[in-house]
Amino acid sequence: MEVSATPCARTRQAYGSLHLNPRLKALIFDLDGTLVDSRLDFAAMRHELRAPAGIGLLEYVETLATEEAQQSAMDVIHKHEVAGAMAATWTATAEEAIHSLHAQGTPIAIVTRNNRHAATLTMERLNMPPIPLKAREDAAPKPDPEALLAIAGEWRIHPKHCAYIGDFRYDIEAAERAGMLPVLYHPMGERPPVFDGAPGALRTLSDFRELTGWCTGQSDQRGES
Ligand SMILES: [Mg+2]
Repeated sequence: MEVSATPCARTRQAYGSLHLNPRLKALIFDLDGTLVDSRLDFAAMRHELRAPAGIGLLEYVETLATEEAQQSAMDVIHKHEVAGAMAATWTATAEEAIHSLHAQGTPIAIVTRNNRHAATLTMERLNMPPIPLKAREDAAPKPDPEALLAIAGEWRIHPKHCAYIGDFRYDIEAAERAGMLPVLYHPMGERPPVFDGAPGALRTLSDFRELTGWCTGQSDQRGES
């Protein structure tokens, strides 16, 4: 028994991350603060919009009384997003991981609350591979799971075989509502206190290169129930 146990132990050690979810097949990523640092100054945006703390900016715009006020506020957000796209840089280890995942055939995609123009500009500037993108024009914004479910549907991969990796509570909530594995990107490696009440399924990720070993059967896109 010792003889057979040793290789298994080595396998577990070498591929320990597979045990996070041995049936994981696809990975979806948030953009700002996760794959890229767009240097978006949310405090400045909030100040310019006169938005109170504690509410998402898109949700705040929804509360404005007139269509003109909403459009004016969205113009401010768009201006900051395009500036962010022009300033964006990869976060540590993200560039290598995304290109490796794409090269190995793992289905990967991006779901963001950004507008499509700014998100596409970011992807082009950083020479990202041509992967699916869902921006706010495409679906209800996170924490609504609509965009995540749409991506999984297009892949014909059940949500339970997908993980969503993001840096904010809306990302974790969207993943949970979609029935996907929620993964909190936190480069310091420790779960911030704000997530202490999160369910046990939440995983924390500090180095994107770990992800290249997370998926099994990644080329199997026949769809399962
Ligand atoms: Mg983010």
